[in-house]
Amino acid sequence: MTDPVIDNDATRRIIDADFTTALPKTELHAHLSGSISRETLSSIWQTKKSQGDDGALALGDPAIALKPSGSFPTILSFFQIFNEYIYNLVNDRESISYATKSIAEDFRRDGVRYLELRTTPREIPTAGISRENYVQIVLDALGQYRNDQVQMKAADHIGIQLILSIDRTMTPSQAHEIVDIASKYMSRSRAPSTTIPPPSVIALDLCGNPTKGDVGTFTSAFRRAKAFGLKLTVHFAEVPASSTEEELRTLLSWRPDRLGHAIHIPPDLKDVIKKQKLGLELCLSCNVLAEMTQGGFKGHHFGEWAATECPVALSTDDVGVFESSLSNEYLIASREFGLGREEVVQLARGAVAAAFAGRERMERLIGDFERVEQIPSSL
Ligand SMILES: [Zn+2]
Repeated sequence: MTDPVIDNDATRRIIDADFTTALPKTELHAHLSGSISRETLSSIWQTKKSQGDDGALALGDPAIALKPSGSFPTILSFFQIFNEYIYNLVNDRESISYATKSIAEDFRRDGVRYLELRTTPREIPTAGISRENYVQIVLDALGQYRNDQVQMKAADHIGIQLILSIDRTMTPSQAHEIVDIASKYMSRSRAPSTTIPPPSVIALDLCGNPTKGDVGTFTSAFRRAKAFGLKLTVHFAEVPASSTEEELRTLLSWRPDRLGHAIHIPPDLKDVIKKQKLGLELCLSCNVLAEMTQGGFKGHHFGEWAATECPVALSTDDVGVFESSLSNEYLIASREFGLGREEVVQLARGAVAAAFAGRERMERLIGDFERVEQIPSSL
């Protein structure tokens, strides 16, 4: 956790973890696999180990093996964590469902009131799971979690929608299969916005190792998704290799609604993005700790984009890996960029503006937060 920040105004009210946790937040860039906590993985590991599961027995306890040892993971070790632990442990109906509900609860406890969770539909032949089955399992888990919240009438509930990701290493036909699934499970109902809507697929994402694949091979899939009425977000200019003028112009030709990371953008394309006021999902800790950006937190491009009319959504990307919650990301933004309380609340409103759903409810929650002003503070 970071040190509290004193606001500049006369009241000198403190901005601390209590404040940023209480702030109703919108999380728009969180990968399901990367958002699984060590504790959740450890719990799955223990269950599988007790059942004599070979994959689990070959691995050490994630609670110990994945404990940060003082140095944060590089992108390479990040993918290794994915491959070794997530894919060996979260690989059947029970573990996928348990992990999904645990993620929902972790975000809710952190004061996230609206979450757009993304996941690449996985085919797991050993468990008889097709890509569509995988999406059904995740949606069922989110639906059960949502129904439990409705029954408990909890005041601090979280609304969750699903984004399906196409991985850059997929074939065009696999990408079209995911578009088919997304279109099948997207919401076509007009539920009242005052209730927590049931989870459905709302958007498509392009993700995966940014040094792999040719994005041009996915153009027809993303155009088809747009025609179905799905929203689009893409991982954009993540590393220099995925930031060629050709790639970025191809991605923008799909008319995405939001861009993730948005790091290595040439000036002419920055102007296009500003003109279109595209929503940006910016991940401070992920980018800085994985050394995707230069100059530490203060050198992060958040400072540049926060001054534009593009709505910015601070996001965690992979909280299970980087272990910085969304409330901590707001605290870091406040500390590193000198944001006062009103500016932090405005930042949360900016994220709402970039959301694909849940805007009305989030506007109301943030409005209530401002009005009530019962913000925990040690001053
Ligand atoms: Zn991401």
